[in-house]
Amino acid sequence: MPELPEVETIRRTLIEKIQNQVIEEIICYHPDVLVNPDGISLDNWLIKDIRRRGKYLLFDLQKDIICNPKPAARDYCVMMVHLRMTGKLLLEEKIVEPAKHTHVRFVLSNGGSLDFNDTRRFGRVTLFPPGQEFNDCGFATLGPEPLGDDFTIDYLINTCKRYGKSSIKGVLLNQKAIAGIGNIYADESLFRAGIFPERKAGELSHAKITLLHQKVREVLTEAIGHRGTSFRDYVDGLGNKGFFQLHLAVYQKDGDPCLACGTTIEKIKVAGRSTHFCPHCQK
Ligand SMILES: [Zn+2]
Repeated sequence: MPELPEVETIRRTLIEKIQNQVIEEIICYHPDVLVNPDGISLDNWLIKDIRRRGKYLLFDLQKDIICNPKPAARDYCVMMVHLRMTGKLLLEEKIVEPAKHTHVRFVLSNGGSLDFNDTRRFGRVTLFPPGQEFNDCGFATLGPEPLGDDFTIDYLINTCKRYGKSSIKGVLLNQKAIAGIGNIYADESLFRAGIFPERKAGELSHAKITLLHQKVREVLTEAIGHRGTSFRDYVDGLGNKGFFQLHLAVYQKDGDPCLACGTTIEKIKVAGRSTHFCPHCQK
């Protein structure tokens, strides 16, 4: 499942290639995947910007009308893309036959297309009038960005207090507490901070929380630098894999020796998710 570093890498590859391109037409091959409750038009949208919030991508679109001195509200829209488990956004230089799991295609003015491909089909593309994206309750309740200014040490201390009975791994995965972290980066951050994933958030010392705050930011920043982690599905907007899987310490490493102490990495379930940790390094 793409997490913050993967979604950010996709954003960066796409904005370089398609900012100020026009989506001439949005073609939907599977009606469940494209959600358009306001009946927003499906043609002629200029891509003004592509933003990321948590694991969501937001395309700021404006009607491509030459000499439009007084654009109306309907001349703007926000397209939210949530990749969920296996969603991909893939740029094609030419119009080709849609792949088996391509559910939505954006035909671009450069003669190519941006294809939303999703084997599991949990991902969604939703069109909103500007501002209405906050009607999406998953989006509206997102916690602060872990690499942003709102994610302070004090915020994390208070959040661990608020969710004190939850495991610290559960807090890291909770999108209402912190936006964008999933299984990979929760496990890696906890390893680097030396915290056992099942520890109750309310039991952690301020010093440990401060260290975790630093390690969360460090892991995410490094992962963006390596263009994300590719296990099964993830590729960026150009179809390229990331490299952070070469730098993982515990995630999917159960049975391997810990790089720090040689103890065998174990796998357990925490917060309903497979969790990888070193029983010696993480207390
Ligand atoms: Zn160890």
